[in-house]
Amino acid sequence: MTKTAVITGSNSGIGLGVAHALAAEGHNVVINSYSDRDEDHALAREIAEKHGNKTLYIKADMSKADECRALITKAAAEFGCVDIVVNNAGIQHVAAIEDFPVETWDRIIAINMNSSFHTMAAALPMMREAGWGRIVNIASAHGLTASPYKSAYVTAKHGVVGMTKVVALETAEDPITCNAICPGYVLTPLVEAQIPDTMEKYGMDRDTVVREVLLERQPSKQFATVEQIGGTVVFLCSPNAEQITGTTISVDGGWTAL
Ligand code: NAD
Repeated sequence: MTKTAVITGSNSGIGLGVAHALAAEGHNVVINSYSDRDEDHALAREIAEKHGNKTLYIKADMSKADECRALITKAAAEFGCVDIVVNNAGIQHVAAIEDFPVETWDRIIAINMNSSFHTMAAALPMMREAGWGRIVNIASAHGLTASPYKSAYVTAKHGVVGMTKVVALETAEDPITCNAICPGYVLTPLVEAQIPDTMEKYGMDRDTVVREVLLERQPSKQFATVEQIGGTVVFLCSPNAEQITGTTISVDGGWTAL
């Protein structure tokens, strides 16, 4: 049955992969980012043409509480209801804690963590009324483990994992599930952006940075793909996942097994 999915931060990377995966299942899809360019709306048209579903782009800045909530209400106004929420928008900044800029800390906590609180709060009443709902929070291996110099990111992602468990308990008797996916490294613009600095910092070539720095903790020595994350979201929205709630699924090539 056709459902309506809102994927935050989905004009790129993992979010875009998830949008394609849910569109391929025939669901209505709302893609989102903070920009409002022709390319964003063109991307929505491309997804719809490729999969024959309905796809809409809605601008909303996930650093702002009212825009997070408005994203859900606008999507519901367009499609009647929001059945699936994938909280994916995220940014990164790498610095020692004593050098970490305060505004950057606040921004990462707002986008990577608080936005999930706002979208879930706005969507849960609709899901309860519709009698079905799926929430998938894109956390990270950094929601389960830590790395130095990523204090805001690690804090936000651990927060998302905790919030996922609370929402699962608050919805346990409803036909609603809430889970988190914890990817290891996935080659997306967010990761790509970390490569040049790391090459310079360690005086390494690209391949060495990828294998020895980025994938150092990923035992498979391979990036996860956006298609694999999309497939995991589709699984969590499928009937076989009905009793899976309040948990994390790692897609990390063995990182968290270490
Ligand atoms: P990306 O940079 O390709 O995508 C991030 C998305 O978030 C983009 O669509 C961007 O426009 C959007 N975004 C950023 N700020 C926003 C804002 N204020 N409002 C709305 N949208 C905003 O990165 P990605 O690697 O695809 O990351 C997606 C999610 O997956 C993030 O939450 C990230 O933490 C998580 N993740 C990524 C990896 C990885 O290795 N790539 C690993 C684990 C977790």
